[in-house]
Amino acid sequence: MKFHVLTLFPEMIEQGMNTSITGRAMEKGLISLNAVNIRDFAGNKHMKVDDYPYGGGAGMVMQAEPVYAAYHSLEEQAGHKLRVVYLTPQGKTFHQKMAEELAQEEELVFLCGHYEGIDERVLEEVVTDFVSIGDYVLTGGELPAMVMMDAISRLVGGVLNNETSAQSESFQDSLLEYPQYSRPEIWRDKVVPPVLMSGHHANIEKWRREQSILRTAKWRPDLLEKAELTKKERELLKGEVGNV
Ligand code: SAM
Repeated sequence: MKFHVLTLFPEMIEQGMNTSITGRAMEKGLISLNAVNIRDFAGNKHMKVDDYPYGGGAGMVMQAEPVYAAYHSLEEQAGHKLRVVYLTPQGKTFHQKMAEELAQEEELVFLCGHYEGIDERVLEEVVTDFVSIGDYVLTGGELPAMVMMDAISRLVGGVLNNETSAQSESFQDSLLEYPQYSRPEIWRDKVVPPVLMSGHHANIEKWRREQSILRTAKWRPDLLEKAELTKKERELLKGEVGNV
């Protein structure tokens, strides 16, 4: 997977992505990162890339031409049009299924806005996907781009050591993951659930599935509408719903 990021702060992207699992994935060549500084395409000696909004109002707007030129440099290298995700609070909210779909691409471009955003005309020209990471407003698109690249990278083959861990996590099958425990067996008088120490795999699987369902009912009941539950599991929910 090749990630390109069009940004005014390439060092922020590089520092964030060079760490931990994504950093190792880059070292192994499983993903690559090309952070492009939009300012390099300013086309004026002051390297200015923003200006006042037409019609007045607060803040500055990133101008169309530097953004277009930065994108175009990537298109020229690739020799074809690229999928461009513009990070914006106005876009569709990012979710795991979207990460799975984007992980199928070979190459993705993330366009990060700053200030009041980007001139609408260049967005119309180059953007294929408008994506938000949640209903709040951040100062720039860099953190949202990193959030998306992180979620997508974990789905690229070989990035996680344990391939199955990406399959049993929260949001798979519209359920949250079951609670996890590690050593010691007793911590501050709290004991690890005995079934996890039993070595009985079928019972452990059953317990985890139940915990997933109960936890989803408690914290994210909205997800349960899409979850595929057996009759027995629905009954479990009915019995427990008052207690969860
Ligand atoms: N004026 C814009 C509006 O009201 O829609 C918000 C601009 S915001 C201050 C600056 C940039 O941060 C945006 O262009 C976008 O790239 C990024 N951004 C802010 N919040 C975001 C969010 N929730 N999801 C994705 N990107 C976001």
